[in-house]
Amino acid sequence: METHKITLTDMAMGLARNEFVYYYQPKISLVSGKINGAEALIRWAKPGGTLIPPGEFIPLAESTGFITEISRAMFPRLVADMVIVNDINEALAISFNLSAQDFNSPEMLDLIRAAIDSHQVNPQRLQVELTEASIINSQDTAVRENLHELAGLGVTLAMDDYGTGYASIDSLSQWPFSILKIDQGLIRRMSGSEKCTTIVQASIRMAHQLGIGTVAEGIETSSIYDFLLHAGCTEAQGFLMGQPMTLGDLLLFIKKDQRWSGLPIGLIHMAQLDHIQWRKNLIDQVTSTSFGGTRDVEIRDMTMEMDHHTCRLGKWYYGAGQEFGGHAPFDRLEEAHRTLHDIGKELLLTAKNGASRDEVTAMMRRLTKQSGIVLEMLQELENEALMNQPAQIPGFND
Ligand code: C2E
Ligand code: MG
Ligand code: MG
Repeated sequence: METHKITLTDMAMGLARNEFVYYYQPKISLVSGKINGAEALIRWAKPGGTLIPPGEFIPLAESTGFITEISRAMFPRLVADMVIVNDINEALAISFNLSAQDFNSPEMLDLIRAAIDSHQVNPQRLQVELTEASIINSQDTAVRENLHELAGLGVTLAMDDYGTGYASIDSLSQWPFSILKIDQGLIRRMSGSEKCTTIVQASIRMAHQLGIGTVAEGIETSSIYDFLLHAGCTEAQGFLMGQPMTLGDLLLFIKKDQRWSGLPIGLIHMAQLDHIQWRKNLIDQVTSTSFGGTRDVEIRDMTMEMDHHTCRLGKWYYGAGQEFGGHAPFDRLEEAHRTLHDIGKELLLTAKNGASRDEVTAMMRRLTKQSGIVLEMLQELENEALMNQPAQIPGFND
């Protein structure tokens, strides 16, 4: 076994000899309970069998700029592996880690674009993970432009290690991220710290409100898995479900088609909160129309979605919520929710047409009554789902 310190020359030689390989760690959808993708994690496979983890060479590669050589050299390998994975299951997404430096110049972007243009890669299934630290350190406009262009190609951008940097929230508003990966340190510290738990819950809620998904990484225990499911997190990654593995092992893993606990109870809770927010916004809008008010129009608020398919609750209902199809409260909810929107539209129109305050108030009461019915159905569904939770999460003990 080699013990000497890794140098840039070693890395360059290793790369020239094709000694770097990708291992893949599965990601589980907390909506379906099934695998929905994998993350490529680099390793250096030295002749003789030693496998060097990225922590031992990526920092040097990043500080010397050699990382861009590694990223470009590894991309064709990633594409070849991705083609195999997607031939087995075209719904699976493959993510890989890049550095903000990889976007200082257009080469990496060009490589990705070429793979998409030649139909080797479906951009919808390709994800790029960038740590918020690397983003913060690069104020370069080239990086920003290239990343926006990448997102424009349809490639998903995930903010990795969320919660470890200084300006996470600000960077979320400035960069085109559509997935938040909550740092594994934060996830693990939840066991001993209420504050960490609250921070994780609030991060999931914030991501949901921004309309982006959350991946929790570093899940090692079933109690943490359960907690995240209830908190409304959308994807899970960790040793509990699967360690990083060779492509061959990943293919076996996919073929096994295991199902983890996946009743997305947390998302029912999110739907309740979303509905309450929708109702508040509507009432707010109606009162400022009919009763006057000092609503601050400078702040760009959530837009009022009047179509019952496209409000947040509707998006959940016709999307991830379909997992609950067949449960009585879920099936009854559709009609109740549509009625709610009909009342909402009528209310808005009445207010805009200058109806009397009494008339408007009466209609607001009808709205809140219907809202109560909708919330009750969601609560019933949550109770039912909680009672139907499998006592033992399959797959955890094998
Ligand atoms: P990351 O992207 O945040 O990847 C997650 C790391 O956590 C991986 O370590 C993974 O093996 C580990 N992990 C996943 N689940 C668990 C768990 O339940 N418990 C514990 N204790 N660890 C878990 P790994 O493979 O050593 O990678 C470390 C970091 O190196 C990555 O963190 C990423 O930032 C970087 N990296 C890996 N591959 C590449 C690459 O191809 N390019 C670049 N630029 N960076 C890479
Ligand atoms: Mg990562
Ligand atoms: Mg990470």
